[in-house]
Parts: sequence; structure tokens; C-alpha cells
Amino acid sequence: PSFSRRPDIGERVRVSFEFFPPKTAEMETRLWDTVKRLEPLQPHFVSVTYGAGGSTRERTLRIVRRIIAETGLAPAAHLTCVDASRAEVDEVIASFLQAGVTRFVALRGDPSAGVGATYEPHPGGYTNGAELTAALQRQGATDISVSAYPEKHPESPDFATDIDMLKRKVDAGATRAITQFFFENDDYERYVERARRAGIYIPIVPGILPIENFRQVANFAGRTGATIPAWVAQRFEGLEEDRQTHALVSAAVAAEQVLDLVERGVEDFHFYTMNRAELSFAICHLIGVRPVEAAAVQPAAAAA
Ligand code: FAD
Repeated sequence: PSFSRRPDIGERVRVSFEFFPPKTAEMETRLWDTVKRLEPLQPHFVSVTYGAGGSTRERTLRIVRRIIAETGLAPAAHLTCVDASRAEVDEVIASFLQAGVTRFVALRGDPSAGVGATYEPHPGGYTNGAELTAALQRQGATDISVSAYPEKHPESPDFATDIDMLKRKVDAGATRAITQFFFENDDYERYVERARRAGIYIPIVPGILPIENFRQVANFAGRTGATIPAWVAQRFEGLEEDRQTHALVSAAVAAEQVLDLVERGVEDFHFYTMNRAELSFAICHLIGVRPVEAAAVQPAAAAA
């Protein structure tokens, strides 16, 4: 591994963290503990997901507002086109902008009937991530991330169609793509090469999912356009009841993946934290992303 030989890595590596709006008071406490733990790592931004329908609209906005009020972090709000007219989506965008959010993650979303159902755009709504990206740009968003799928989106018949969709999002104003999680780094590298050949030059940031619970990840992976290779499944075999070993194996699997990506020249990482800090924090430590004391930051910030 490279980390002992490359103490300089942390200076180049940039990370971001993704959270989801909690549903209960207990989960809320866990989220803020996680945010506080990860904040000193000075992520480039932290993003807050957006659930199906309007149910999490208020929650996403509330979490993002609290991040602005109580932390020094730059929040990015996820937003989907699901079950909303253009006017309704534009209103949501306006309320985020009013709250001081300028970073967004623009998504089409999944059918509210559930993943696997055919996606039917709202009759008066934005139909996909590209149209939503254009709407965000029109309204003044300055930093727009979109999705990318190293194994292609399940609805894309082939990679050419998938890359074409990414190109449309870039042409509409996307400034960064964040990938669906994946475990085969070759898939990611091939996807980036395909994108570059198609004239897509925005950063394509790998989305890293530290496996908190293998059974859960295995259950939803297939529906999201991500597969679990047999070698990953084998590593978690027999560990369902053994949480401690599971956690150590998770850390090892994620560390191996991230360090290999660093070796391949990747400098930006997006972590799907699942609102838990430990694994993401440990992996950041390995790649040289360490807590920064607030006092130590000031002179550098002033000099910049
Ligand atoms: P798009 O990129 O718009 O389209 C996906 C695919 O659909 C295309 O690749 C293409 O195959 C097909 N397609 C779309 N439009 C057309 C067209 N006009 N013609 C032909 N084919 C078309 N979901 C949430 O609900 N909330 C979140 O906060 C959230 N955050 C996410 C963050 C990231 C980084 C990622 C990778 C995914 C996230 N998702 C989220 C999941 C996402 O909503 C689903 O994967 C959804 O199925 C596709 O949304 P998209 O924006 O990728 O779609």
C-alpha cells in the first residue's frame, strides 16, 4: 500500500461526504454526531439527499439550513424531478437558493412506485437529470453535480446511451459527476475513459460506499446499477452475526479500493456515509486527510 510511502497524499486528496435526512430523533442525533466528527476533515462539501415525493423536501432543507447555521461546511442539496411540476421544482430550487445553498446534486430520481417500476415523468415536470440541471443553472446555481454509473444505469441499454445522457447533463451545465458506488476500480477507470473520449471533461468523482451492513448493500445493489463482485461477497461470508469482524473487513475492503484509486491518480472522493462517521473517517486517515484545527486553518485561508 502507498500510504506509508506517500505522506503527501493528503495535500492533494479532496473529499466530500453524503448524508440522508434522518427520520427519527435518534437518527437525528446520530447524524449531527457524524457531522461534528467529520467536520474537522474539511471536506470540499457535504451533500444531503432528497427522498421520493415531497416528503423529505422540508427535511432536506432543514438539515441544509442547520449545516449552514452551525458548521463551517459547504452544503450541497440533492434534488429530484419525481412527482413534481416544473413550477414546483423551481420553487424548491428558489427556497434552497434563498437559504444560501448554491451547490446542488441534480437527479431524475426513481419512480415513486418503487425501483423497478417504469419511470413516468410528471406530465408538467422535468423529465431527467439534464433538464433539471438546466433549470438549476437558469436559476443561478453555481456548482451542479450529476450522477454517473460506472456499470451503466439499469435503464441504459448500452454504455453509449449512458455516456450520451451524461454528456447531455454536462452540456446543460453540470460541473461535476459523482458515481454510483462500485467495487471494481477497472469499471470506474473504463467509464472515465469512455467519458473523456466522448468529450466529457468535468471531474467524475468516485462514490465510495463503506459497507456498514453487507446484507443490506447486497439487497439494494442490483436495483441501483451496481453489482457486488463474488470476491467482495466472499469476504463478508459468515459475518452477519459478527459485527466486530464485519466492521474490520469493511474497513479493509474500502481502504483497499480507495488506496488503489489513489495509485491510479484519483484525487477526489465522495463518501456515502450512511450517516455514520467511523469508516469514512478511518479511510480518510489512510489517504492522509486528517483533522485540521480551526486555528491552524486561519493563516492558510488568509494567504489564499
Ligand atoms: P438520469 O441521469 O436523468 O437518467 C438515468 C438514465 O435514464 C439514463 O442513463 C438513461 O438510461 C435513462 N434516461 C433518462 N432520460 C432519458 C431520455 N430522455 N431518453 C432516453 N433515456 C433516458 N435518488 C434520490 O431519490 N434522491 C437522491 O438524493 C439521490 N442521490 C443520488 C446521488 C448520486 C451520486 C447517485 C449516483 C444517485 C442518486 N440517486 C438519488 C439515485 C437516482 O435518482 C437513480 O439512480 C435514478 O434511477 C436515476 O436518476 P439520474 O439522475 O441518474 O437519472
